[in-house]
Amino acid sequence: MRQLLTLAAAIAALAACTTNKTEEMKDTEIFMTPGGAKVEIACICHGSIAINYNGYSIQIDPVGEMDGKINDYGPLGKADAIFVTHEHYDHLSAETIDSLSKAGTLIFANASGCAKLGKGTALANGDSGLLTPKIRYSVVPAYNTTEGRERFHPKGNGNGYIFNVDGLTIYVAGDTEPIPKMSGFSSIYGSIDVAFLPVNQPYTMTVPQCVEAAKVIAPKVLIPYHYSKTDLSELPGLLSESGVEVRLHESLR
Ligand code: ZN
Ligand code: ZN
Repeated sequence: MRQLLTLAAAIAALAACTTNKTEEMKDTEIFMTPGGAKVEIACICHGSIAINYNGYSIQIDPVGEMDGKINDYGPLGKADAIFVTHEHYDHLSAETIDSLSKAGTLIFANASGCAKLGKGTALANGDSGLLTPKIRYSVVPAYNTTEGRERFHPKGNGNGYIFNVDGLTIYVAGDTEPIPKMSGFSSIYGSIDVAFLPVNQPYTMTVPQCVEAAKVIAPKVLIPYHYSKTDLSELPGLLSESGVEVRLHESLR
């Protein structure tokens, strides 16, 4: 009898495991580099995503709890590098950063983020560097442009990041509205394969602003994120003739 119960418990545990894995897979986007290597991007929540390439793990704005939702970072393991766009609570959690850090984890943030954390390497708009010989990061501006909203994200404070992962370019915009620099991204960084653009008011973009930015940046794939209660149902239709493929993730509200 005891053996039967143990077996039943094992089967139940296995079933739970399988369910978790399905959940996890659902919110992971997989892209291929020009050389045919796999890049996984986990769509965790709101402003939090993670990139995994060949065992190298990059966390961007990891936050363990967002509006009562607990994010399980366990399956992603410890990070090799952590990037913080800016110091707001929905992008910077010292506790989550500590939980994802191991010996040698590189931590990067804007200057205010480093000040709040009391550690990390401060990155400013225009900086760039290599994480590995095949992974480059570049720092681009992220700010509000609409009158009355500049106070949320003043120009020069926050960062957006463009990662070149073995030839695959991934733009993680941070909290920004459309900005003039976006029109030069492809000539400076190469054409953008995947763009994460923030959509929520009054802090980031409206749906029409997201459409405007997507047309300028012209990524192959647009993944709107940071969208809270914003209704994105019209977004794919508005971009249907632009050549930009829109992929929606409920997890990125
Ligand atoms: Zn913000
Ligand atoms: Zn935010």
